[in-house]
Amino acid sequence: MICGGLDIGGTKIEARLFGPGMEPGGSRRVATPRADAAAFFAALAAQVAWLRAQGGFALPIGIAMSGVVEPGNGPDSGIVRAANLPISGEHMDSRLRQIAGRALPVMNDAMALAFSEANGGAGAAAGASVGLVLGTGLAAGLCIDGRPAPRHGGIAVELGHCGMPARALARHGLGLWPCGCGRQGCIESYVAGPGLARLAETLGQAGDPQALAVRDDPAARRVLDTWADLAAEALEVLQMTLAPPVVVLGGGLSRMPGVVARLERALAPRLMAGVPPPALRLARFGDASGVRGAALLALREAGGGAAWTR
Ligand SMILES: [Zn+2]
Repeated sequence: MICGGLDIGGTKIEARLFGPGMEPGGSRRVATPRADAAAFFAALAAQVAWLRAQGGFALPIGIAMSGVVEPGNGPDSGIVRAANLPISGEHMDSRLRQIAGRALPVMNDAMALAFSEANGGAGAAAGASVGLVLGTGLAAGLCIDGRPAPRHGGIAVELGHCGMPARALARHGLGLWPCGCGRQGCIESYVAGPGLARLAETLGQAGDPQALAVRDDPAARRVLDTWADLAAEALEVLQMTLAPPVVVLGGGLSRMPGVVARLERALAPRLMAGVPPPALRLARFGDASGVRGAALLALREAGGGAAWTR
Protein backbone atom coordinates (compact mmCIF):
# COMPACT_ATOMS: atom_id res chain seq x y z
CA MET A 1 0.00 0.00 0.00
CA ILE A 2 1.32 3.45 -0.80
CA CYS A 3 1.01 6.24 1.75
CA GLY A 4 1.81 9.89 2.26
CA GLY A 5 3.18 12.12 4.98
CA LEU A 6 3.14 15.80 5.84
CA ASP A 7 5.91 17.36 7.89
CA ILE A 8 4.86 20.71 9.36
CA GLY A 9 7.66 22.87 10.70
CA GLY A 10 8.11 26.55 11.44
CA THR A 11 9.57 27.26 7.99
CA LYS A 12 8.06 24.68 5.61
CA ILE A 13 5.26 22.18 5.10
CA GLU A 14 6.61 19.17 3.21
CA ALA A 15 4.37 16.58 1.55
CA ARG A 16 5.96 13.30 0.50
CA LEU A 17 4.66 10.14 -1.10
CA PHE A 18 5.98 6.66 -0.18
CA GLY A 19 5.74 3.47 -2.23
CA PRO A 20 4.58 0.00 -1.08
CA GLY A 21 8.02 -0.75 0.45
CA MET A 22 8.25 2.74 2.02
CA GLU A 23 10.59 3.88 -0.74
CA PRO A 24 10.42 7.68 -0.98
CA GLY A 25 8.53 9.11 -3.92
CA GLY A 26 7.79 12.64 -4.99
CA SER A 27 7.69 15.52 -2.54
CA ARG A 28 6.48 19.09 -2.52
CA ARG A 29 7.53 21.86 -0.14
CA VAL A 30 5.74 25.12 0.57
CA ALA A 31 6.63 27.86 3.05
CA THR A 32 4.69 27.69 6.31
CA PRO A 33 2.28 30.66 6.45
CA ARG A 34 3.03 32.45 9.72
CA ALA A 35 0.39 35.20 9.53
CA ASP A 36 -2.76 33.43 10.72
CA ALA A 37 -4.55 30.10 11.04
CA ALA A 38 -6.66 30.61 7.90
CA ALA A 39 -3.59 30.97 5.67
CA PHE A 40 -1.92 28.06 7.43
CA PHE A 41 -4.83 25.66 6.92
CA ALA A 42 -5.26 26.79 3.29
CA ALA A 43 -1.63 25.81 2.64
CA LEU A 44 -2.14 22.51 4.46
CA ALA A 45 -5.27 21.78 2.39
CA ALA A 46 -3.29 22.40 -0.82
CA GLN A 47 -0.64 19.90 0.31
CA VAL A 48 -3.30 17.28 1.12
CA ALA A 49 -4.83 17.87 -2.32
CA TRP A 50 -1.42 17.42 -3.96
CA LEU A 51 -0.85 14.10 -2.17
CA ARG A 52 -4.30 12.88 -3.22
CA ALA A 53 -3.65 13.93 -6.80
CA GLN A 54 -0.63 11.60 -6.75
CA GLY A 55 -1.97 8.72 -4.67
CA GLY A 56 -5.77 8.83 -4.82
CA PHE A 57 -8.46 10.02 -2.44
CA ALA A 58 -8.11 7.03 -0.08
CA LEU A 59 -4.33 7.50 0.32
CA PRO A 60 -3.40 7.08 4.02
CA ILE A 61 -1.90 10.43 5.10
CA GLY A 62 -0.21 11.14 8.42
CA ILE A 63 1.10 14.39 9.86
CA ALA A 64 4.24 15.17 11.84
CA MET A 65 4.34 18.61 13.41
CA SER A 66 6.20 20.56 16.03
CA GLY A 67 4.19 21.07 19.19
CA VAL A 68 1.45 19.02 20.77
CA VAL A 69 -2.15 18.06 20.01
CA GLU A 70 -3.90 17.42 23.32
CA PRO A 71 -4.80 13.72 23.41
CA GLY A 72 -7.68 11.91 25.11
CA ASN A 73 -11.32 12.83 25.57
CA GLY A 74 -11.06 15.78 27.94
CA PRO A 75 -12.37 19.31 27.28
CA ASP A 76 -9.08 20.33 25.59
CA SER A 77 -8.78 17.16 23.51
CA GLY A 78 -7.65 17.92 19.95
CA ILE A 79 -6.39 21.44 20.80
CA VAL A 80 -3.00 22.44 19.35
CA ARG A 81 -0.16 23.96 21.38
CA ALA A 82 2.69 24.96 19.07
CA ALA A 83 5.10 27.81 19.74
CA ASN A 84 6.26 28.33 16.14
CA LEU A 85 2.97 27.83 14.24
CA PRO A 86 0.02 30.26 14.01
CA ILE A 87 -2.49 27.60 15.14
CA SER A 88 -2.16 27.39 18.93
CA GLY A 89 -5.64 26.98 20.41
CA GLU A 90 -7.09 25.62 17.15
CA HIS A 91 -8.95 22.30 17.18
CA MET A 92 -6.72 20.20 14.92
CA ASP A 93 -9.05 17.23 14.51
CA SER A 94 -12.02 19.27 13.29
CA ARG A 95 -9.80 21.40 11.04
CA LEU A 96 -8.40 18.24 9.44
CA ARG A 97 -11.88 16.81 8.98
CA GLN A 98 -12.87 20.00 7.14
CA ILE A 99 -9.77 19.78 4.95
CA ALA A 100 -9.62 16.05 4.29
CA GLY A 101 -13.16 14.85 4.96
CA ARG A 102 -11.80 12.44 7.53
CA ALA A 103 -9.49 12.37 10.56
CA LEU A 104 -5.76 12.29 9.82
CA PRO A 105 -3.33 10.94 12.44
CA VAL A 106 -0.99 13.55 13.92
CA MET A 107 2.29 12.97 15.75
CA ASN A 108 4.87 15.29 17.28
CA ASP A 109 7.82 15.64 14.88
CA ALA A 110 10.45 14.37 17.33
CA MET A 111 8.25 11.35 18.04
CA ALA A 112 7.88 10.87 14.27
CA LEU A 113 11.69 10.82 13.88
CA ALA A 114 11.97 8.21 16.65
CA PHE A 115 9.11 6.16 15.17
CA SER A 116 10.58 6.22 11.67
CA GLU A 117 14.06 5.24 12.82
CA ALA A 118 12.74 2.51 15.14
CA ASN A 119 11.06 0.91 12.10
CA GLY A 120 13.64 0.04 9.47
CA GLY A 121 16.08 2.78 10.51
CA ALA A 122 18.99 3.42 12.86
CA GLY A 123 16.94 2.60 15.98
CA ALA A 124 15.52 -0.71 14.73
CA ALA A 125 16.19 -3.85 16.78
CA ALA A 126 17.27 -1.76 19.77
CA GLY A 127 14.26 -2.50 21.98
CA ALA A 128 14.03 1.12 23.06
CA SER A 129 15.42 4.09 21.17
CA VAL A 130 15.30 7.84 21.38
CA GLY A 131 15.16 10.15 18.37
CA LEU A 132 16.86 13.44 19.21
CA VAL A 133 16.27 16.47 16.99
CA LEU A 134 19.14 18.96 17.10
CA GLY A 135 17.74 21.75 14.96
CA THR A 136 16.21 25.17 15.49
CA GLY A 137 14.91 23.63 18.69
CA LEU A 138 15.80 20.52 20.66
CA ALA A 139 13.27 17.76 21.28
CA ALA A 140 13.23 14.01 21.55
CA GLY A 141 10.88 11.09 21.03
CA LEU A 142 10.88 7.64 22.60
CA CYS A 143 9.94 4.34 20.96
CA ILE A 144 9.73 0.99 22.71
CA ASP A 145 9.67 -2.15 20.57
CA GLY A 146 8.98 -0.05 17.51
CA ARG A 147 6.01 1.77 19.00
CA PRO A 148 5.84 5.37 20.23
CA ALA A 149 5.72 5.39 24.01
CA PRO A 150 2.46 6.99 25.18
CA ARG A 151 3.29 10.22 26.98
CA HIS A 152 1.06 11.93 29.53
CA GLY A 153 -0.48 15.04 27.96
CA GLY A 154 0.76 13.99 24.52
CA ILE A 155 4.12 15.70 25.01
CA ALA A 156 7.31 14.45 23.39
CA VAL A 157 10.44 13.89 25.50
CA GLU A 158 10.86 17.62 26.16
CA LEU A 159 14.53 17.43 26.95
CA GLY A 160 15.16 20.86 25.43
CA HIS A 161 13.18 22.55 28.17
CA CYS A 162 14.82 20.76 31.06
CA GLY A 163 17.30 23.05 32.78
CA MET A 164 20.96 22.91 31.76
CA PRO A 165 22.75 21.56 34.85
CA ALA A 166 24.40 24.32 36.90
CA ARG A 167 27.69 22.39 36.96
CA ALA A 168 27.92 22.64 33.16
CA LEU A 169 27.26 26.40 33.14
CA ALA A 170 29.81 26.88 35.93
CA ARG A 171 32.40 24.82 34.05
CA HIS A 172 32.19 27.18 31.09
CA GLY A 173 31.40 30.45 32.89
CA LEU A 174 28.02 30.79 31.17
CA GLY A 175 24.96 32.58 32.52
CA LEU A 176 21.27 31.75 32.30
CA TRP A 177 20.27 32.38 28.68
CA PRO A 178 16.60 33.08 27.85
CA CYS A 179 14.54 30.37 26.11
CA GLY A 180 11.65 30.66 23.66
CA CYS A 181 9.43 28.95 26.26
CA GLY A 182 9.66 32.07 28.43
CA ARG A 183 12.03 30.62 31.00
CA GLN A 184 15.80 30.75 31.42
CA GLY A 185 18.62 28.24 31.31
CA CYS A 186 16.84 25.58 29.22
CA ILE A 187 19.08 22.99 27.52
CA GLU A 188 17.71 24.09 24.13
CA SER A 189 19.09 27.62 24.65
CA TYR A 190 22.67 26.29 24.59
CA VAL A 191 22.53 23.16 22.45
CA ALA A 192 20.05 23.82 19.57
CA GLY A 193 21.16 25.78 16.48
CA PRO A 194 20.59 29.32 17.84
CA GLY A 195 22.30 28.24 21.09
CA LEU A 196 25.39 27.10 19.20
CA ALA A 197 25.41 30.43 17.32
CA ARG A 198 25.25 32.34 20.60
CA LEU A 199 27.94 30.15 22.12
CA ALA A 200 30.22 30.78 19.13
CA GLU A 201 29.64 34.52 19.45
CA THR A 202 30.32 34.38 23.21
CA LEU A 203 33.64 32.67 22.46
CA GLY A 204 34.57 35.27 19.83
CA GLN A 205 33.66 33.23 16.74
CA ALA A 206 30.60 35.00 15.29
CA GLY A 207 29.30 33.77 11.95
CA ASP A 208 27.75 30.58 10.66
CA PRO A 209 28.36 28.08 13.49
CA GLN A 210 28.00 25.09 11.15
CA ALA A 211 31.08 26.34 9.28
CA LEU A 212 33.11 25.75 12.45
CA ALA A 213 32.96 22.00 11.93
CA VAL A 214 34.78 22.24 8.61
CA ARG A 215 37.27 24.93 9.75
CA ASP A 216 38.92 22.63 12.30
CA ASP A 217 41.32 25.22 13.79
CA PRO A 218 41.89 25.61 17.57
CA ALA A 219 39.31 28.41 17.98
CA ALA A 220 36.65 26.45 16.08
CA ARG A 221 37.45 23.29 18.03
CA ARG A 222 37.05 25.18 21.31
CA VAL A 223 33.51 26.28 20.36
CA LEU A 224 32.47 22.82 19.20
CA ASP A 225 34.04 21.03 22.17
CA THR A 226 32.23 23.42 24.53
CA TRP A 227 28.99 22.78 22.64
CA ALA A 228 29.59 19.01 22.74
CA ASP A 229 30.24 19.17 26.49
CA LEU A 230 26.90 20.95 26.99
CA ALA A 231 25.15 18.51 24.64
CA ALA A 232 26.70 15.64 26.61
CA GLU A 233 24.93 16.94 29.72
CA ALA A 234 21.66 16.65 27.79
CA LEU A 235 22.54 13.10 26.74
CA GLU A 236 23.40 12.26 30.32
CA VAL A 237 19.92 13.41 31.42
CA LEU A 238 18.49 10.99 28.84
CA GLN A 239 20.66 8.13 30.12
CA MET A 240 19.81 8.81 33.78
CA THR A 241 16.05 8.92 33.07
CA LEU A 242 15.27 6.70 30.05
CA ALA A 243 18.59 4.85 29.43
CA PRO A 244 17.88 4.08 25.77
CA PRO A 245 20.42 1.69 24.17
CA VAL A 246 20.33 3.85 21.02
CA VAL A 247 19.98 7.59 20.45
CA VAL A 248 19.33 8.55 16.82
CA LEU A 249 20.36 12.09 15.90
CA GLY A 250 18.38 14.20 13.43
CA GLY A 251 18.03 17.89 12.63
CA GLY A 252 20.43 20.36 11.03
CA LEU A 253 23.22 20.13 13.63
CA SER A 254 23.41 16.35 13.17
CA ARG A 255 24.86 17.06 9.71
CA MET A 256 28.01 18.68 11.15
CA PRO A 257 31.02 16.57 10.10
CA GLY A 258 32.26 14.34 12.92
CA VAL A 259 29.38 15.14 15.26
CA VAL A 260 28.88 11.56 16.50
CA ALA A 261 32.55 11.06 17.46
CA ARG A 262 32.69 14.49 19.11
CA LEU A 263 29.60 13.75 21.23
CA GLU A 264 30.86 10.28 22.17
CA ARG A 265 34.15 11.79 23.35
CA ALA A 266 32.32 14.42 25.38
CA LEU A 267 29.83 12.02 26.93
CA ALA A 268 32.24 9.35 28.18
CA PRO A 269 33.70 11.38 31.11
CA ARG A 270 30.30 12.87 32.03
CA LEU A 271 28.37 9.63 32.67
CA MET A 272 28.04 8.49 36.24
CA ALA A 273 29.83 5.19 36.97
CA GLY A 274 27.66 2.25 36.03
CA VAL A 275 25.43 4.17 33.61
CA PRO A 276 25.81 2.59 30.15
CA PRO A 277 26.39 4.99 27.25
CA PRO A 278 23.93 4.92 24.36
CA ALA A 279 25.02 4.05 20.85
CA LEU A 280 24.83 7.37 18.99
CA ARG A 281 23.73 7.04 15.37
CA LEU A 282 22.74 9.39 12.58
CA ALA A 283 19.18 9.13 11.26
CA ARG A 284 19.17 6.65 8.40
CA PHE A 285 16.43 8.52 6.56
CA GLY A 286 17.96 11.95 7.10
CA ASP A 287 15.74 14.99 6.71
CA ALA A 288 12.88 12.83 5.38
CA SER A 289 12.71 10.69 8.53
CA GLY A 290 10.00 12.75 10.25
CA VAL A 291 7.70 12.72 7.24
CA ARG A 292 8.39 8.99 6.84
CA GLY A 293 7.32 8.48 10.47
CA ALA A 294 4.08 10.34 9.79
CA ALA A 295 3.41 8.20 6.71
CA LEU A 296 4.11 5.01 8.71
CA LEU A 297 1.62 6.15 11.33
CA ALA A 298 -1.04 6.59 8.65
CA LEU A 299 -0.21 3.20 7.17
CA ARG A 300 -0.54 1.53 10.57
CA GLU A 301 -3.91 3.18 11.18
CA ALA A 302 -5.07 2.05 7.73
CA GLY A 303 -4.12 -1.51 8.61
CA GLY A 304 -1.28 -1.74 6.08
CA GLY A 305 1.33 -2.92 8.55
CA ALA A 306 3.44 -5.33 6.54
CA ALA A 307 5.61 -2.69 4.92
CA TRP A 308 6.86 -1.24 8.18
CA THR A 309 6.97 -4.16 10.61
CA ARG A 310 10.39 -4.23 12.22
ZN1 LIG B 1 12.63 26.40 27.44
